[in-house]
This record gives sequence, C-alpha cells and structure tokens, in this order.
Amino acid sequence: MADLDPDAFRKAAHRVADLVADYLERLESYDVVPKIAPGDVAAKLPGRPPENPEPLEDVLEDYLRWIEPNVTHWQHPMFMAYFPSVASGPGILGEWLAAGLNSNVMLWRNAPASTELEQVTVAWLRELFGLPAVFDGMFTDTASMSSLLSIVAARHAVPGLHARDEGMAGPARLRLYASTEAHSSIEKGAIVAGVGKAGVRRVDVDAEYRMRPDALAAAIREDRAAGFTPFCVVATLGTTSSTSVDPARAIAEICAREKLWMHVDAAYGGVMAAMPEHRPLFDGWERADSIVVNPHKWLWTPFDASLLLFRDPAHFRDAFSLVPEYLSTPEAPGVRNYNEYGVQLGRRFRALKVWMILRMFGTEGIAAILREHLRYANLLASWVAADPDWELLAPVPMATVCLRCRPEGHPDPDALNRRILDAVNASGRAYLSHTRLAGKLTIRVSIGNPRQTEAHVARIWELLRSAAATQTRIDA
Ligand code: PLP
Repeated sequence: MADLDPDAFRKAAHRVADLVADYLERLESYDVVPKIAPGDVAAKLPGRPPENPEPLEDVLEDYLRWIEPNVTHWQHPMFMAYFPSVASGPGILGEWLAAGLNSNVMLWRNAPASTELEQVTVAWLRELFGLPAVFDGMFTDTASMSSLLSIVAARHAVPGLHARDEGMAGPARLRLYASTEAHSSIEKGAIVAGVGKAGVRRVDVDAEYRMRPDALAAAIREDRAAGFTPFCVVATLGTTSSTSVDPARAIAEICAREKLWMHVDAAYGGVMAAMPEHRPLFDGWERADSIVVNPHKWLWTPFDASLLLFRDPAHFRDAFSLVPEYLSTPEAPGVRNYNEYGVQLGRRFRALKVWMILRMFGTEGIAAILREHLRYANLLASWVAADPDWELLAPVPMATVCLRCRPEGHPDPDALNRRILDAVNASGRAYLSHTRLAGKLTIRVSIGNPRQTEAHVARIWELLRSAAATQTRIDA
C-alpha cells in the first residue's frame, strides 16, 4: 500500500478527531488509574506486526478496546498527582498541525517559519512572565534537558576549564549548589555534565523548605577553602514536594558576588508569573543566567514543551555549536540555527502548539484560569486547616496542597496516611501522589487542569475524609 492519499487521509483524520473529542467528552466516566496489572495490555495485543495492510477501523477498534481505557488519564480533572500535565484543546490542535508539517527545527534554512515562530513564541512567553527583554531562549523536550543544557553552559563559562574540548577527567572539583528540595533532574544534569553527584552540594532549607542564603554562602566559602571550584547555583521557584520558593534575590546577590552562574528551575511554578500580582514571589529571578519553565506542566501544552530562557545565547552556542560541512548554510551571522544551542540536531516544532495556546486563551484568559486554580487550592487548604483531624504540612504559595490526617493519639500517622492514599487511588475516582516533608508522609493534591471546577476540589476532600474515616475505623 502507498501512503494514504489526501482523500483517504482526510476521512481518517476526521475519524481520529472525532475519537479524541469523544475521549475528552467521556473522560470522567473512566477510572483515573485503570484497574490493571503489569503485562495485561501487552498480553491482549498481537505479538507480531501484520504482514498486510489493515484497515483503519480495525486498528482503531483495538485502540478503543485496549489502549484508551488502559492509560492513566492525565487529562482527567481528578488526576491531582504530581504536577498537572494537561493537553488543552488549542494545544492538541497545534500538535496536530505540527505533525502535519513535520518541520524539523534544526537550521533556519530547513525550518524558516518554524524557527521564527519559536523566536516569537519564546519572546511572548518571556513577556507573559514579566521578564526583561534581555532573555532569549528556545524550547526543549523537558525541564531535565533545559537544566542539563544550562549546567553545561555554566560549566563552559568557568574560566580556565576547557571541558568542551578536553573532557572532564579526574576527580570532581566543580561544585554546583541546589537546595535539599531541588528536583532530581538537577543531580542528573550534573551527572551527565561530568560534574558528578559528588559535585552537587545540597544546601539546607528553612522551616518553609526554602534555600537558606546564609547556608549557601557558608557552603561556597567552605568549598573554596577546600580547593573546589564553585560554578553554579540552582534556585528552585516551586519545588516538587511542597512548591516552596527559594529566595531568588538573595541567591542572585550571592551569585553576582561570587561570580557564579544562576540557574532557576521554575519548571512548575514559573507560570505563576503570568499573574502580575504574583510576580513579587519570584523577585530576583530576572537576574538569572538561565531559567526553565515548562508549558507542559501548568500551561496546558501537550507533552512535551519546556521553555529554556537564557540571558546570553553566546554561552549556549559556544558550549554546543559543532557544524559539520553538510550542515553549513549561507545565512548571514545572527540567523538562528537552533541546533547549535543544545544537544539535539533534529528538533520538534513545539512552538506551534504553545503559540496556539497563547492566542486562543489570551494572556488574560490564562491568568483568569490560573487565579481559579489558586482559589481552589486555598479553599482546600482552608478546609484542611479547619478540620482538627487534618493538618497542612507546608504553606500553599501555588496550587498544590500538602496535607495529612493526624487524628489525636493515632500511633502511626505515616501508615494511616499511606493507607488513605492507597484507598483513594485504588477507588479509581482520583489519583494523588505523596512526598515526605519534615520526615512525615505527606499527601499532595496538585490542582492545575483547566477542566477542573470547585466541585472536583470538593470531591477530593470528600474522598480523603471518607477514606480516613474507613481507615481509622479499621484501626479502632
Ligand atoms: N523541576 C521541577 C521543580 C519539577 O517538579 C520537575 C518535575 O515535576 C522537573 C524539574 C522535571 O520535569 P521534566 O519532566 O520536564 O524533566
């Protein structure tokens, strides 16, 4: 069979568009987490590919029977685990258009409009977040990649260290600083960049899980005295466990004094800056050398799209540019060839879906939804605070609430909360995740889906309280 001709493709595409619309319509009829065991789906699928072409309807039948019902439904408004990763309608449409074009955004010459739309969309996001025009940037797949690229650029900026050309043989002498609450992707980035786990120094946090600037300054002093080379500090604005916000201004001042690269991991929380009234929370992030914010988290962009902003593109270009003969093009200097700023040569056309989201929601529309999410989170926090059997384990600066049940005199609240979490998740009616704060098992409720309403938040509170009642009865 040849590829689908335009007419056949049109019919098939309409069919698929209908399926996706049907899915979004019936989303809430599904259990958020399917009740299946590892291997169940694979066992239902043919072990070998067909030798002859199969009609679309047969393939879609299997999709509807085995795939759609057996995913964990990240799109479901009762999915409140981890951080939101939701594909909005405009985002899905942008993803489809990008798939049709299949533009590979490696060089301006082979992706002119896609390159320029990426430049425009990056500038729009920068403006949406109220950051100064000095920031340029690009899209990567994930925050893990954005942070890795930033760590490599920071390493490249260390005077006298020629890691790009000579490698990183020998014991780790570089030091990168991140709080004890920083995401594991920072340590992974350090591993890949040759800094090593030993090169990552975890800095203590205060009672609200924010990096302590005095502890950072002391760690740098101590490391310099011991012969290490400090080179980079990562400030997390919206940590994974509790959404705490490191003090960016104080960290920026230490970085300026010590001549260190400042990288900001605002993968989840950065979107808060789309609401001008919340920008003071990030005061000082505008002094960073690099910043990551993930549109695929709280900006409803189909996975994947991570925004990497950098103050000086030359640092990234110098760190990563390698142009073999076959990729040299006659464009004037200054034309953006994105492959020179990171690891990948071929790059997906991510800007289109983000651009469609910005256009179809509008900046005011985005801020209005975010404000609702904050209102829901505060509402839930107020219910928790008012119930003597429950407690909040962290402040709620964003839309994630850290809570747990702690009935008077209960001998093992960790085990109780684990059972409450398991019961809610096993019900299929919601999906929550956990963390540990101050040594205590903590249930996280993360809001951020534009399909969520106050009723969903009331329902999660009801589910938690009813699971707690059952579990405490078992203990009694
Ligand atoms: N940074 C923070 C603060 C996160 O919470 C996460 C994931 O939740 C990441 C980085 C990693 O994100 P990604 O999956 O885009 O690599």
